[in-house]
Amino acid sequence: MSSEPLKFIADAMLGRLARWLRILGYDVSYESSISDDDLIAMAIREHRIILTMDRKLTERESAKNSLLIKSPSYNEQLKQVITHYNIDYKSGIFTRCLVCNGLLEPVAKEKIKDRIPPYVYSTQDEFDICPQCGRIYWSGTHRVKMLGMLGEIMK
Ligand SMILES: [Zn+2]
Repeated sequence: MSSEPLKFIADAMLGRLARWLRILGYDVSYESSISDDDLIAMAIREHRIILTMDRKLTERESAKNSLLIKSPSYNEQLKQVITHYNIDYKSGIFTRCLVCNGLLEPVAKEKIKDRIPPYVYSTQDEFDICPQCGRIYWSGTHRVKMLGMLGEIMK
């Protein structure tokens, strides 16, 4: 990729959208309670696009790099962001921790044997771990479900 991938910061109303953008591999800051001033300051400091449902916030001079999210439903919100920035929603999917925003790293399954269900251990070979929070990810029915939902949203 020639240009830097977009980075976002989501306001407190947009937790579900933030998780979905992380599922797609995007770097999204999200805190469930953050003041407008702190949110804007972080956006400027870290070159993040502000995603917000607050029109007043987007009208502030310091918050120019923002997108006003229109719909209360997360699937419409996701579609709006993907469409507006024409972002690639396929190549980075499942590379980021949806809970804490960390970048996932592959991990040998022997190392995490005691932390996953025996059935998963015996049926899956590839695992990723979040170096920040320790959460473990693997390809399973939940990911298949997410891909199905994404297909629905983007069709
Ligand atoms: Zn994590």
